[in-house]
This record gives sequence, structure tokens and C-alpha cells, in this order.
Amino acid sequence: MSAQQRTIPAPQPTPEIQPFFDAAAQGRLLIKKCAACGELHHYPRALCPFCFSDRTEWMPASGRGTIYSYSVMRRVPVPFAIAYVTLEEGVTMMTNIVDCDLDAIRIGQPVKVVFKPTDGGPPVPMFTPA
Ligand SMILES: [Zn+2]
Repeated sequence: MSAQQRTIPAPQPTPEIQPFFDAAAQGRLLIKKCAACGELHHYPRALCPFCFSDRTEWMPASGRGTIYSYSVMRRVPVPFAIAYVTLEEGVTMMTNIVDCDLDAIRIGQPVKVVFKPTDGGPPVPMFTPA
């Protein structure tokens, strides 16, 4: 594990996803639920990806999940892990696994959300072993 910190590029929120980053700035993870069909989704969209309804609503997520798959980027100045994490609520997020030994990451490992500062933008949700 490197003591060096990786600079995380700032996300460029669109109006559609701004509430997600406003919540992240307060340390809260939001996902979207469709009021028409009841399905949850991520990445947040204005139209439900299942039934195309525009009745999508924000809801808080627990911030707990498990690693579905991951890949460690080593040929960069500060190695890091990209992963798909399946939240308790059932949606899968592309994210980073942070604050841990990259060699100890395992598929199926329980993780919890942490919010990491970015380079001049809102914090972004990432995950660390629970
Ligand atoms: Zn729907």
C-alpha cells in the first residue's frame, strides 16, 4: 500500500445527477428508485432504464455492499483498484476500492462507502473493506 495519495479528478455533474453529488458532499449515498415499476437503478438517470417512466426518485442507500469484480491498475504512478460493487439494495456501481492493501481485495468481500475528495469538485463515493 502506497502512502502517496492519488489525485482524483473532479466529476462534472449534469443537472440530472447534481443531487447525487450534493448528497455525497454531506456523506450520503443516493440511488434512484422508479415510482412506476419499483426498480432501483444506478448510474442515476432521469428516465427509468426498466420502464422509461420519468417518475424516478432519489432514495438513500445503506452504503454497504460486496465486491462483484475488480481490477488493480498498477502501471500508473499511484496504483488503485477499480471495482464493481453490488450494494445491499441490489444495484451495482462502478467505483474504486480504497484505503486497503490492493493485494488483499477479493471478489465477494464486504465493503462500505467512503467519500473521497476530488481535485476541485464534489467528493465521490468509493468503497473500503467493511
Ligand atoms: Zn420503472
